[in-house]
Amino acid sequence: MNSQPKLRPCKNFTACGVHTGLQDCSNPSCKFAHIVKCHKSYAGSTKIEALSNRGGYNNQQLQAPVAGLATWMQTPTSAPQIFSGSHDGFWRLWDSSNNFSKSFENACGIKVTHLLVDSVSQKLVVAFESAFNGTSGLIVNPKDTAQTGAGAVSKEEKANLHTVGLIQSWDLNQPQAPPTNYHLSQFAPYASHKPITCLLTIPDAANPTHPIVIASGEEPAIRVWKMNPTATPQPAYAPVSTMFGHVRPVTTMLTLDGLLWSGSIDGNLRIWDPTAGECKHVVLAGKSATGGGHTGPITDSIVVEAEGSKFVVTASLDATVRAWDMSANLMKDEAMGQGVVCLNSIDDTGGNKLLLCGLEKGNVMIRHFPSFMNLMVLSSQYSCGHDGGAVRCIEIGPNNCFFTGGEDGKVMVWQIVGDAAKMMT
Ligand SMILES: [Zn+2]
Repeated sequence: MNSQPKLRPCKNFTACGVHTGLQDCSNPSCKFAHIVKCHKSYAGSTKIEALSNRGGYNNQQLQAPVAGLATWMQTPTSAPQIFSGSHDGFWRLWDSSNNFSKSFENACGIKVTHLLVDSVSQKLVVAFESAFNGTSGLIVNPKDTAQTGAGAVSKEEKANLHTVGLIQSWDLNQPQAPPTNYHLSQFAPYASHKPITCLLTIPDAANPTHPIVIASGEEPAIRVWKMNPTATPQPAYAPVSTMFGHVRPVTTMLTLDGLLWSGSIDGNLRIWDPTAGECKHVVLAGKSATGGGHTGPITDSIVVEAEGSKFVVTASLDATVRAWDMSANLMKDEAMGQGVVCLNSIDDTGGNKLLLCGLEKGNVMIRHFPSFMNLMVLSSQYSCGHDGGAVRCIEIGPNNCFFTGGEDGKVMVWQIVGDAAKMMT
């Protein structure tokens, strides 16, 4: 059952950083919760032209969703900077020490589908969607293929264009250096046969400056990449193993105690030994006697540590969030009222563990963990929130801060400033 939230955020308190005309709440007898502040809401992307399937009618402008957010801290005490990547063909950097103004913008020209920062090696890893021209053997911008006239891709070539996934990584300690490309082989200058929608990094014991990168997405294969320092003409990332098992696109991955967990849009959850490249366990979708698997697409997954135990928490468009123990036994199956698109966890100021659930309709639902008690919902209707589509990503920063990116193209900066357990009593 989807329970009612216990706390209602005070609009003046929560949204005064966003809505002009609101004053911070100074009412000592205010009955609403003073626990979350929204410091800023800004456009993290520009509008893009909708590519019409019918051809010729490309005058519709759509807001490009924010597809990924990543927190970057140069040192553990630095002010955080936020990378955002969007379908508008840019990744951007926003500086928290300067009111989240844009400090850098990289025009990639192609859709950014995911990004992350590996904090240990200080690398930015970005996934893109592009097209491989099977006639020329070159990577092309899918947008260019819509052009007509001189320079346009011929009809024959068009039939031979295939959407592929690219990965590039930047060294944040040497931002001027060109990015590293990830190629399947000399003759396959891309990182996946389909767009990549999930990435993660793990340390490479043999090479501390270049993490192992694991990527997956619409091609239901999980590919492990390692830096080959002796590659010619220059050191390059190369695929070292590929894990097959999923039959539908992979949407999320995490690592826990040496094992890799992956979730798919068919609701299947798989657990792998990434070193051996073997699938060790599968939780099938649907209500099976042993499984308790999701009945809709899995969208996100995180590890949450609470009360001395580690749990994997998964989100799904089946409108539930589920918690699993480390052996993939279902511990909790909680209805959220609508599809859950993204997930993260954060501590409040009292050290309570909170789940942040990004919902299909743009709200962020905050649940206590592991009780799953519904604490509050942040929505544009009652305080502030994303408007016009789902929350696409939630990233955590220092000092109880979190950042959300939405289909509405906005990035929002939030901070938990209270103790949820205290407010409940
Ligand atoms: Zn108030």
